[in-house]
Amino acid sequence: MGAATACFLARDHGLRVTVLERDPLYRRASSALSASSIRQQFSSPINIALAAWSVDFLRRLEDELSVPGEAPPAIGLVEPGYLYLATEAGARTLTDNHTLQCQAGAEVALLSAAQLQQRFAWLNVEGLVTGSLGLRGEGWFDGPALHQAFRLKAIACGARFVKAAAVGFETARALQDRLEVGLENVVKIGLADALGQGAQRGSTVKAVVAQDGRRFAAGAVVLTAGAWSGPLAAQLGVSLPVSAKKRDVFVLDSPAAPLAGCPLVIDPSGVWFRPEGRGFIAGGPPRPAEAGGPGDPDEPPLEAIDHALFDEVIWPALAHRVPAFEALRVRSAWAGYYEMNTFDHNGLAGPLLGWANAYTACGFSGHGMQQAPAVGSALAALIAGGTSTAPSLDELHPRRVAEGRRIVERNII
Ligand SMILES: Cc1cc2nc3c(=O)[nH]c(=O)nc-3n(C[C@H](O)[C@H](O)[C@H](O)COP(=O)(O)OP(=O)(O)OC[C@H]3O[C@@H](n4cnc5c(N)ncnc54)[C@H](O)[C@@H]3O)c2cc1C
Repeated sequence: MGAATACFLARDHGLRVTVLERDPLYRRASSALSASSIRQQFSSPINIALAAWSVDFLRRLEDELSVPGEAPPAIGLVEPGYLYLATEAGARTLTDNHTLQCQAGAEVALLSAAQLQQRFAWLNVEGLVTGSLGLRGEGWFDGPALHQAFRLKAIACGARFVKAAAVGFETARALQDRLEVGLENVVKIGLADALGQGAQRGSTVKAVVAQDGRRFAAGAVVLTAGAWSGPLAAQLGVSLPVSAKKRDVFVLDSPAAPLAGCPLVIDPSGVWFRPEGRGFIAGGPPRPAEAGGPGDPDEPPLEAIDHALFDEVIWPALAHRVPAFEALRVRSAWAGYYEMNTFDHNGLAGPLLGWANAYTACGFSGHGMQQAPAVGSALAALIAGGTSTAPSLDELHPRRVAEGRRIVERNII
């Protein structure tokens, strides 16, 4: 989110941008540990619109992010689709989602069990009633390569990436009364468009303060600290309900023949898998504490992979759904944090309430990698007072937390 926003601010609006990053190796960044897949199959129009814009951008990546004198960026985007499977219990939801997705312009096919079997001979359709297959705009890519492409393009357009841990802000309280008239005037000449509907005639951030005492003065600040955005926003008195929730990913070798046309499959059990290189990756929701699992605590160590999750939950589900997976072997595993918006599991993007020049893009939970292009472009335009063809971020405005207004998204992975 930070690299994308910086890139669009510098490339499209000519602004001087400094990105503060405490770990330039990105060892615990969600973007370095993501499954980096993209789908159109959401149940809320805003998420579908962001994914549609983003996949178009990814297809044009060479044109968008090439840097003169450097090899063009390559993210290996493939589009074999997502396949959501449903038993009787989930069929109605899948059908309703399908209607909404088609209305929003997504190309998705609803298949019967017989059609699924015909299309994917390797799939055990026992117990399935229907499946929803994305025909376009769904697949996966190299996430760290996308991050790097945004970063290098941003730098080529003048942005600075500095190693620094942000710990606080220097602020100036609103001079609301005195400035009222002046601000009205500015608003009339276009600042309203610049700052969007969420513009606050609030206090201003003057500078970001780093742990080592350095001070970075800025005309505007954007909090894109991923799973760690909450404590920084709290420094500005804003509550962002974002927590670091660990998700394990297992890398699998399958001695069986490759599964022809295999999409990213989401089993009714919640277990998912997709091809990766010559093998597969798979994951599933954490085992609840009631079932003897670790539950879903905040920021547990990333090294604590729950191998029982694979043995007891993922492997049985995979072996049942794809008989050829009987002989699967775990080659390795990794974990990363979803920067989980515990309020409604969707991104929080836009101005911070009460601040005239502070913004955020965080809390994208399991779908931030794929939305970064659209969110970065829209947010940069909002900050710079320019334009973007990306969807408006109004619905993702963080004020919905204070207002208790949730985005209802049924397709959360
Ligand atoms: C296992 C897993 C699978 C996923 N699968 C998908 C998927 O298939 N598709 C998808 O779209 N999304 C997926 N996601 C989610 C996606 O990866 C995230 O939504 C996205 O990467 C979030 O990007 P970000 O820039 O907000 O956060 P990050 O990538 O975490 O970046 C935040 C950065 O801020 C830095 N930082 C934090 N605090 C400070 C501070 N105080 N000062 C300076 N720097 C700071 C951090 O070091 C970090 O580099 C997955 C995530 C995980 C963990």
